[in-house]
Amino acid sequence: MPATPLSVLLTGAKGRMGQAVTQAARELGVRIGAAIDLGGDPAAAIGSCDVIVDFSSPQATRALLELAAAHNKPIVIGTTGHPAAEREALRRLAARVPCVWAGNFSVGVNLLFALCRQAARILGEDYDAEVVEMHHRFKKDAPSGTAARLLEIILEERKLGPQALRHGRSGMTGERKKGEVGVHALRGGDVVGDHTVMFAGLGERIELTHKASDRAIFARGAVRAAQWVVGKPAGLYDMQDVLGLK
Ligand code: NAD
Repeated sequence: MPATPLSVLLTGAKGRMGQAVTQAARELGVRIGAAIDLGGDPAAAIGSCDVIVDFSSPQATRALLELAAAHNKPIVIGTTGHPAAEREALRRLAARVPCVWAGNFSVGVNLLFALCRQAARILGEDYDAEVVEMHHRFKKDAPSGTAARLLEIILEERKLGPQALRHGRSGMTGERKKGEVGVHALRGGDVVGDHTVMFAGLGERIELTHKASDRAIFARGAVRAAQWVVGKPAGLYDMQDVLGLK
């Protein structure tokens, strides 16, 4: 007898990612047990689902984490754009349940994270680091969650605090300061997601680029994360854990 398919409570179901997750779930043999968007009530559906997958809005995350904890259900969070001041409290809440939280669920971007760490470590501060991202005109947050993770990796490797970040430049900015890490968010058209990390030295420059052309890559990764996280002990995981890259 075939095993019962995993049942997902999907929030943000009518959005671009919600629709891509619905399609990916169909391909991967996972059931969308409840498709919730604005106006829907996840609390009414949680009892009959095995795992929550969220691609809605940053304002929804806290209540979803509390719901997951109250019902002892695992959760996959794909939503980005949480204010920095709130992130730590959300991460503490997330660690009370089995939770995969990733700003990007693609395999290629997770390799980019590893390559970025290696490059930042080997090249050191003589190579100026800049992150450039481009997304479609409808994206609401900037810089992207993926760019934020790339910046975090560079800051970690260089032992710098968030004050080293430089969001865009304009006017008489003066010479680039040593230790500064630049970030630039471009918006337009239907670009699914491009990220470049640049390490520019005197006489040479390394650029690591990832270009997503189909949001199915994020959706499949999120469904894979949902399959992986069911039955795991409580704790905060990321896509590197799901892919076994740690
Ligand atoms: P979208 O605007 O197309 O869809 C969001 C949907 O969520 C909308 O249908 C909206 O009505 C719904 N929604 C808003 N608040 C809600 C709430 N409280 N409860 C239930 N539904 C609610 O956006 P999108 O392009 O699908 O992106 C969604 C999120 O996923 C964004 O934060 C985006 O940055 C992120 N994202 C993450 C990844 C990743 O790999 N982690 C990839 C792409 C996008």
